[in-house]
Amino acid sequence: MIAEGLRAVRGRIADAARAAGRDPRAVTLVAVSKTKPVEAIREAYAAGQRAFGENYAQELVTKAEALADLRDLEWHFIGHLQSNKARLVARVAHVVHTVDSRSLGEELGRRALAAQRPPLPVLLEVNVGREAQKHGAAPEDLGALLEAVRGVPHLRVRGLMTLPPDDDAGAARAFDDLAALRDAHGGAAALPDLSMGMSGDLELAVARGATLVRVGTAIFGAR
Ligand SMILES: *Cc1c(COP(=O)(O)O)cnc(C)c1O
Repeated sequence: MIAEGLRAVRGRIADAARAAGRDPRAVTLVAVSKTKPVEAIREAYAAGQRAFGENYAQELVTKAEALADLRDLEWHFIGHLQSNKARLVARVAHVVHTVDSRSLGEELGRRALAAQRPPLPVLLEVNVGREAQKHGAAPEDLGALLEAVRGVPHLRVRGLMTLPPDDDAGAARAFDDLAALRDAHGGAAALPDLSMGMSGDLELAVARGATLVRVGTAIFGAR
């Protein structure tokens, strides 16, 4: 049951935060609802969940329209985004986790402005593990990307995001690396959010400072 999954995940986040000496309220759970029906999202909403993550632009828009009656629901776009889909995402997303180029940032800012929405909070995706099959900026390019995206009207750079390798040791290293990159680029004052941690590794991420954890399977079951 979704409510039970949510309760268990919230418990895991709270335990991990306390173990790390952090306030559990400093960690926002983003329930990743990709491929799941809107009924599942309604069920999670009824159990108190407000932030939801989607990976595909068209799926996000379709679900946002179907759930428009839930006024305080917050949509996080967490998938790879091509510039030609930026218009769709900018219309409905409250946060975009996956900006990895100047051109994508510019297109999102332009589209958010045209849609007459508030300035759009974004995170920059970094490929800290330098995995060939993953998206995200190379760590050495982050400084230039930050400067470019900070200059885009109607965007607000909130922090960094990464998708770690599958194994625990690789994930722990990737989360350490993302936290270190944040420190190297102005620290939490400049980049308050770290989006990292999923169903299998959220404890590792919370221990390393995650403020947004993206959890699907542990809430909604297998996809
Ligand atoms: C699917 C997905 C998640 C959730 O993964 P689970 O293992 O199901 O918790 C998190 N982040 C991104 C970017 C995803 O694509």
